Amino acid sequence: EYQEPSDGEPPIGITYDDIGGLGDTVDQVREMIELPLKHPELFARLGIDPPKGVLLYGPPGTGKTLLARAVANETNAHFSVINGPEIMGRYYGESEGRLREVFEEAEAQAPAIIFIDEIDSIAPARDETGEAERRVVAQLLTLLDGLEARGNVVVIGATNRPDAIDEALRRPGRFDREIVIGVPDTQGRREILNIHTRGMPLAEGVDLETLARTTYGFVGADLGALAREAAISALRRVLPGLDLDLDEIPAEVLDELVVTDDDFGD
Ligand code: ATP
Repeated sequence: EYQEPSDGEPPIGITYDDIGGLGDTVDQVREMIELPLKHPELFARLGIDPPKGVLLYGPPGTGKTLLARAVANETNAHFSVINGPEIMGRYYGESEGRLREVFEEAEAQAPAIIFIDEIDSIAPARDETGEAERRVVAQLLTLLDGLEARGNVVVIGATNRPDAIDEALRRPGRFDREIVIGVPDTQGRREILNIHTRGMPLAEGVDLETLARTTYGFVGADLGALAREAAISALRRVLPGLDLDLDEIPAEVLDELVVTDDDFGD
């Protein structure tokens, strides 16, 4: 079961097997991020710089954070998260200092991944920028340029608005690689449903195939929530028949707890 890492520890437990419906996107991520983190010597031999910055583009809830956590876990890399809106808000006035700290820590603990969620709120396109953002973007550029191109610190930026970030961030040597994370199709939704129900006692005949077909537009986060709701529905079905003394739930309840098609709703 997933546990939130204490700051900087590699995220526990998340692997590529926990990510569904992204097809060869996972391979792109492995080639762009995992390979240089694990084998910088290959890039040195070829005489090319491994990527320092990779942008993940995609709608909310499609697995960008999940993917970053999985790569960190699979490479045993130090993992830090910077939340864009938070660093401009909660850390207002200390944003640059906070960024510097995170980069210093990552370099000291390399191999490391720095994940910047909602990077568009730190580095919006120029015409949307205020004075505070301009200073933070300048700091971010300095930090990126200052990272040695050894491949052992990779910065992953996530955004759902590809055009919303400052052009300067996308120059060579900065965030010069981009990976699109799409909304899952039927097959993808099926894979994600499999993942989110794999620990559940599903009743015989639960039809995930149909569920996958009828959940058009659902992203991973929606499907995860759907599965959790179904489990809770099963729990409610079994519990009300009992005397609700929660200290005395009989062991048989565990056998009766089965998630059925009805629990998944219409
Ligand atoms: P945001 O842009 O809102 O931060 P995100 O793209 O980073 O969204 P995640 O935070 O990775 O989305 O997804 C939230 C949760 O939804 C995950 O912890 C996971 O349970 C589920 N989820 C999302 N995408 C997938 C996926 N492709 N496969 C399996 N589960 C997924």
